[in-house]
Amino acid sequence: MRTEKRQENYEKDQRHLRDRFLCLTVGLIIIGFCLSGLLTTSSDFANRRTEIEPFFLSIPSRDTARDFSKEFSKMPHTPGSPRDATLAKRVLQLFQEELGISPTAASIFPAGSPESRNATLRLTAKDRVSQPTAWIDVYYPDLDTPKQQDVEVLDQYGQTTWAANLNEEGDPLDEDAYHSRNDVPTWHYYSADGMVEGKLVYVNYGTKQDFEALLSAGVNLTGKIALARYGEVYRGIKVENAQSSGAIGLLMYTDIRDDGRVTAQNGYAIYPHGPARNPSSVQRGSAHMLYIYPGDISTPGYPAYQNASRQEPSNVLSIPSIPISWKTAQALMEESGMFNDSISRKLVRLINRVDRAPAPIWNTMAAIPGHIKDEVVVLGCHRDAWVLGAADPVSGTVSLLEVVRAFGALLRTGWKPLRTILFTSWDAEEAGLVGSTEYGEDFGEWLSRYAVAYLNVDISAAGPRWLIYGTPSLSDLIQRTAQDIPHPTVKGKTLWDARHDRGFEYDSVEALDSRPNATDIQMLGLGSDHAVFLLRLGIAASDQMFKGVTEFDIPYHYHSIYDSHRWMQIYGDPGFHRHIAVARHLGLMTLRLADSLILPLNASRGASALDNYLTSVETKFNASRNLHVLRQSIARLQAASAELEEEKNESRLNFFDTIVGKSPSFSSRIFGATSSGLYRPYNPYSGWLGQFVSQTSLKWFEEEIRQAYIRVANANKKSMIFDRGFLSDEGLPERPWFKNLIVGPDREQGYEGTPFPALAEALQSGNSNRVEYETQRLMNLLEGLTVKLRS
Ligand SMILES: [Zn+2]
Repeated sequence: MRTEKRQENYEKDQRHLRDRFLCLTVGLIIIGFCLSGLLTTSSDFANRRTEIEPFFLSIPSRDTARDFSKEFSKMPHTPGSPRDATLAKRVLQLFQEELGISPTAASIFPAGSPESRNATLRLTAKDRVSQPTAWIDVYYPDLDTPKQQDVEVLDQYGQTTWAANLNEEGDPLDEDAYHSRNDVPTWHYYSADGMVEGKLVYVNYGTKQDFEALLSAGVNLTGKIALARYGEVYRGIKVENAQSSGAIGLLMYTDIRDDGRVTAQNGYAIYPHGPARNPSSVQRGSAHMLYIYPGDISTPGYPAYQNASRQEPSNVLSIPSIPISWKTAQALMEESGMFNDSISRKLVRLINRVDRAPAPIWNTMAAIPGHIKDEVVVLGCHRDAWVLGAADPVSGTVSLLEVVRAFGALLRTGWKPLRTILFTSWDAEEAGLVGSTEYGEDFGEWLSRYAVAYLNVDISAAGPRWLIYGTPSLSDLIQRTAQDIPHPTVKGKTLWDARHDRGFEYDSVEALDSRPNATDIQMLGLGSDHAVFLLRLGIAASDQMFKGVTEFDIPYHYHSIYDSHRWMQIYGDPGFHRHIAVARHLGLMTLRLADSLILPLNASRGASALDNYLTSVETKFNASRNLHVLRQSIARLQAASAELEEEKNESRLNFFDTIVGKSPSFSSRIFGATSSGLYRPYNPYSGWLGQFVSQTSLKWFEEEIRQAYIRVANANKKSMIFDRGFLSDEGLPERPWFKNLIVGPDREQGYEGTPFPALAEALQSGNSNRVEYETQRLMNLLEGLTVKLRS
């Protein structure tokens, strides 16, 4: 009812505006042509579709995407490596070329230097730059240099009877993978340095339940080396569980039993001759307690400048772990005499030698300054890879570069965004979200104040199904933009429809999965560089990717040499359609966030999601009696959020009404830029609104418009603080780095986001004082936010 009434009022307003508009003098007809788009459409978005958006969306190209993919995945570029540095500079060069930035200026700054601080801070400073800028911030986190990784079987005298070849094999048919087969050792980032000997115990996935089952079956892990398969939980959780149960080391292997239908056993040839997993492939990865705090292990909560004081890390485990292949695991089980038993007869030696020291990493950044001085849209992808990383993260980096190209094309038309856009190419994500986290810790205060949202991409294409993650306040924007972008391969469908896709055969996409809600916008966790923005700074965030469905699709060689350009071309994204679909979605979200008069963040959606979160926690812990007071706080926040959404709409209508109601001479002054070439029909706002919001002195008759604009700006500011409202200084219990009390990384899974993490842990503990304390903390936050939204 309410919505209908609003729509009716709105249409009345529109008619009223149009009538007034038509009364303006003939001299304004041309301007009227441009403005009428604004007045006759039902949303800020719709107008853009007819002008700026088709042009913007036409820029991303499969050809350039293919070329970028080839170039960036040609050689290994692990964090801090020379190739990683080369690609950081290459991204800088591309940012400069595409955004029209002079390459002569010095632009590589040590983090913490006045130049580095200034590069970010001046984007919103009084004397801020008016032209696009690009630069590199150099941080110094602890980085690993792997020295020796060995797995051996010993005889009764301690002599080696068998030693594993831990390298991936490679095959000349995939040239890039073949050439890099000996370049990147198979190790776990931030794993303990050490040499241990013990019998091998098979621990399944290494979950808490797996270890409990072993203990209750009478298996003693003390002094043993655990053998776990990948899956179910994050690597660090497996190591932590092994360590807690008394194990002295851990080997982690990729199990082809987890590959679904596309296996050699089912008749598929093995990569690179076919789509089945290469049995020598190894999944490298970080294996510390990322869920205690991400980023540089030696500077938790503060930036890793070169001269930063270092701490003993509290998120690194003490037992060593090594990743191995299916093939190695099979041989090891046989050689060590494991057979059908879960314990080996022979002793196994695990050697993991790693040097760890501060070393440089490079975050490449670029900004397009907007007219509004204090609102910034941030988007990014990491650039470092475990080996070649054609999917992880080259596909995402390619999508990001295509977005930058599209914005470059817009800039060349004379367009300028309303809000500042900040592009980021993070480093050392693979070590543990390091580049983004250090930046977030370095500029936390600035980001809290000015960031509108952070849009992440990492793997953009590695299979047929589109997975989308996001903060509920962004859900409308996410869905509408996805519905405005065509499906990458199926005519007549949209990107939004691709949430259901799966392809049993790699070249056929079928929409078969109709499970309700199985493919909604999912909750963000700790999976990529959005972590610091959402979980520490309370900034609305999103992430997206095309991936295979494990049961039906082609296995992806995650963090292996086989994540190569060739695999991408044949299996991951033949034709590079998905790279482009993600670029378009990411770009369109950025454009709408940057250019809509009213910020497309929806507090009502954010507040109503809390009900579902609470229900899921109540159900999980059977705890509804304790939590009804919390539901009342949620209801009050929902009411305040609905009022905010109403005010946003009204302030917008009021703004346009006020402008049109002004004298023709005033209007022509504002719109005069049309003839001087500053204003192009591509952007309904920037020519006049932009100039208006950035000017300092106003004539008497402009005051009324200024007041109308301030009303709009205030509503936007409230939209921005909505997600900040869930932060607590105290943070999660025993994990104070994480400040968000509404969403946080699950303590037992490691990566995935879980609702009300502190409350959930309290409920799990069964301690009623803790439950009461956490309920009260949440209520205080929600009530505080309700007051702020109404102030
Ligand atoms: Zn990645």
